[in-house]
Amino acid sequence: MPVPIIRLILAAASLMLPSAPQAQASRSMPISQVRYDVTFDSLTADSRTIRVAMSFAASQTGDILLSLPKWTPGAYEIGNYARYVDGFSATSGSDSLDWDKVDPDTWRIRLPRSGNVKVAFSYRADTLDNAMSWSKSDFAFFNGTNLFLYPEGQGAEFASTVTVHTSPGWKVVTGMKPTTTVNSFTSSNYHDLVDMPFFVGKFDVDSTTVVGRTLRFATYPSGSINALTRNTVFQQLGKIIPYQAMVFGDVPWDTYTVMQVADQEFPFGAAAGLEHQNSHLDIISPVVLGNPILGSLYSHEVFHAWNVKRLRPAAMTPYQYDREQPTPLLWISEGVTDYYADLAQVRGKVIVPRAFYATTVDKIDAVSEAGAQSLEDASVSTWIKPVNGTEDLYYDKGSVAGLLIDILIRDASDNRRSLDTVMRELYENTYKKGKGFTNEDWWSAVSRAAGGKSFADFERRYIDGREPFPYDSVLPRAGLRLFIERLVRPSLGISVSNDDQGLRIVQVVVSGPGATAGVKLGDYLVKVGGLDPEDPEYEKKFNEKFSGMPPGGAIPIEIKRGNQRLTLNAPVRFNTTETRRLIEVTNASPKAVRVRDGLLNGTLQQ
Ligand SMILES: [Zn+2]
Repeated sequence: MPVPIIRLILAAASLMLPSAPQAQASRSMPISQVRYDVTFDSLTADSRTIRVAMSFAASQTGDILLSLPKWTPGAYEIGNYARYVDGFSATSGSDSLDWDKVDPDTWRIRLPRSGNVKVAFSYRADTLDNAMSWSKSDFAFFNGTNLFLYPEGQGAEFASTVTVHTSPGWKVVTGMKPTTTVNSFTSSNYHDLVDMPFFVGKFDVDSTTVVGRTLRFATYPSGSINALTRNTVFQQLGKIIPYQAMVFGDVPWDTYTVMQVADQEFPFGAAAGLEHQNSHLDIISPVVLGNPILGSLYSHEVFHAWNVKRLRPAAMTPYQYDREQPTPLLWISEGVTDYYADLAQVRGKVIVPRAFYATTVDKIDAVSEAGAQSLEDASVSTWIKPVNGTEDLYYDKGSVAGLLIDILIRDASDNRRSLDTVMRELYENTYKKGKGFTNEDWWSAVSRAAGGKSFADFERRYIDGREPFPYDSVLPRAGLRLFIERLVRPSLGISVSNDDQGLRIVQVVVSGPGATAGVKLGDYLVKVGGLDPEDPEYEKKFNEKFSGMPPGGAIPIEIKRGNQRLTLNAPVRFNTTETRRLIEVTNASPKAVRVRDGLLNGTLQQ
């Protein structure tokens, strides 16, 4: 899974505070001229805090209700960011204003007379999660959802400016629009404001041009990637993004920023990304730095700039920051995005078709392991992080569903239309018309692309329902076949580990052939059936020599135990392993080959 998402602690927090009650009569007095001042420098870094001030004008007296979001779009769980606020104050000129809280993330400020108001607080930035805020002695990243209060009940269409105050020589990078003042940015509405995370401090940033637009790569810590790795990333994205833009016929940003933090605090070997409209924020374990597998993560997150940040289920349109917004269509936002992450890589020739098939089989394996689980149910349930293995199922299963639907459309239209057609049509007819898409919008677009073929049965059985995917009837239409390779091999039931004395036996399967022969932990393996187990070709030679042996025979095992040399006889037993492979059918019809080529190259018949 290229996009493991690790938020166990937050999930627990959300269970403690299930959807807190909405503020009663939750309408703030109107406010205007909103500005936010954010301070992170070497001093605040010591306490891992960010200082936040919000200033605005209030032309009426009464109660002003200011709230912090409960969650960050893309990270589908309640985060309760108000937990990290401390030292809240409200002033007007030299007067302190009375305030209290009306719900866990809403502050009520009593304004005796109109005027300019400033509220201030410090925010604990110590959570290494891309929906949160985190700092080190020389760096912080933060999300606007964590720091920027909004007036309750006044809508999101208010403009604001953000000014970052930091130490001399420290940098600021964000997707927000810069003003002529240094480290100062503007936003025309609250949705954009909180969709553009910031890097502040010492880090590297470089840029290139992709699809005629600026692509920046900001990386912390400074020096964590070298010029070669940076160029490799730029080259990968230079091949991937054009094929993503081609799906929609649109590049919806002026500048796109890949923001990457590598830190030991993150689980070993893990990498997680969070998408935004013109940036994404990746957090990775340092051991993953420079690994080309990250191309898959970048591809996924960039594709989100279209699919979910713009083309979005109606249930999440517009975003509401004070409540969960479950949708049965998350498999389209996440799973289909993951399908296109793979497609863009194979179309851009970042990976070869064989690697695309291998990735697809990994996903098919995950679908199979999850058992009879519904994609729609998994989509809806993600907010509560189910423990039955479906927490992230909509990624892999949604991705495989995308492949199957793509093949069915291409097959029905003789490769004249595809899933690309569906994505493009919905982008034009819903996002560009200012609305989200519904289940009905999706399936009617799919059906239209397939020349009117009904998908009602497909949806009922495989998307809403729990029936196993129909691989055998769908994949051959793209000249592909899911092939299960069964390998039967002789097995000794022992494992070894190399040390300075040789191959030490570190595991003996109870009642296995080795155990039956008398092999003990700590013995050293010298010869097996006359073969040298340290020979690099050993496994191959062993299988050749003993695969045809009848059961009941014996394999001599020569071991060293202390000063003794012993030859023990292990009875021959066989192990069966099953491996799925997605293979190209050699005698596929010309039509199936057209479908397969179209899918791999992103092309349609004219
Ligand atoms: Zn995603």
